Amino acid sequence: MKHMHQLKSIWIAGALLLALGHTSDLFAGQKGAIRVSLDNYDWKKVSGEHFFVYYTDDDKFAKNVLDKAEKYYVRIAQGLGYPRYSGFWTWDNRVPIYIFADHKAFIQATDQPEWSHGMADYTHKQIVSYAWGEGFVESLLPHEMAHLIFRDFVGFKGEIPLWLDEGVAQWAEESKREYMSQTAMEYYKEDKLLSIEDMMKLDIRLLKDMDRIYIRATKTREGKMAALFLDVESLVKTYYLESVAMINFMIDRFGAKRFTQFCRELRDGKKLEEALQSAYPNKMKNLDEFEERWREYLEEKLSS
Ligand SMILES: [Zn+2]
Repeated sequence: MKHMHQLKSIWIAGALLLALGHTSDLFAGQKGAIRVSLDNYDWKKVSGEHFFVYYTDDDKFAKNVLDKAEKYYVRIAQGLGYPRYSGFWTWDNRVPIYIFADHKAFIQATDQPEWSHGMADYTHKQIVSYAWGEGFVESLLPHEMAHLIFRDFVGFKGEIPLWLDEGVAQWAEESKREYMSQTAMEYYKEDKLLSIEDMMKLDIRLLKDMDRIYIRATKTREGKMAALFLDVESLVKTYYLESVAMINFMIDRFGAKRFTQFCRELRDGKKLEEALQSAYPNKMKNLDEFEERWREYLEEKLSS
C-alpha cells in the first residue's frame, strides 16, 4: 500500500462509452463450433462467385448482401496484404451467409446470448445473422468476413491472442476506422488505455459478472503507473477499441506487407514475440517495445 499515493486513479464510467458501438458478435474458432439449426426454415438462395446467401424473405436485401460481400472479399484480403487470396472460397467452398428474418429467429436458431447480432463460425465456414439494415452491410458483414479470412491465413498453430482476431475484424469495418482511431487517441490522452499485458491475457468472452469492478494497472501519457477502475461494459469496450487501434497502428505505421509477414510467422507456429521479432526486427522486437512504439505513434498523431 506504500505506493498507492503515487497512483493516479482513473475511473471509466459505462455510460460514457455507450456511444462507442463495437460490433457485438461471437467468433467461434476451431474448437468452439456453435451448433446452428438451419433445417426448419424455408430458405431461398442467391449465389455469387464466393458466397451463397440464404434468406427467408427480403430478396432485395439478400442481393445487396451478396453484392457487398463480393466487393469486401477482394478489399479485405488486399488491405491486410494477403496475396493471391482470390482462389479461396470458390465453387464448393463458397461461404454460406444465413440471414434470418429477425433477431428473435436468429437467437432461437443459434442459441447465442441476447447481446449477439451475428457470428462467424470457422468450423463450418459460415456467417449467420439476421436482416437489420445498414448496420449489417456496413459493419457486421465485413467484420465476420474478416474473422474468416484472417484465420484462413494464420490458421490455429501459432500464438494468436483474441485482440488480433477482434482487431482485424473491426479494422475491416472501414466506415468506423477513422472514428475508432480518433477515440483511441482520446483514450490515450486521458490515460484510459489498458496495458499490452492485459490485452494479451484478457479473455473478454469469460467476463460474466456484470456487477464487478475491475482494477487494472496501466501507464499514463507521462509514463507513470496508474490504476484503472472499470465496470464490465467499459472493460469490454476499451478492449475492442484498443484491439482495432493496435492493428491500425501496425498497418498505418509499418505497412500491410510487414503485417502480412507478421501473420505468416504466426501461421508457421511462432510465438507472438518471435513473430514481432522477425517482422519488425529494428522496430519492435517484443511486447514492451510494441507498447512503446504504439504510444510514440499516438503521441505524434496527437501533436500533429
Ligand atoms: Zn468479432
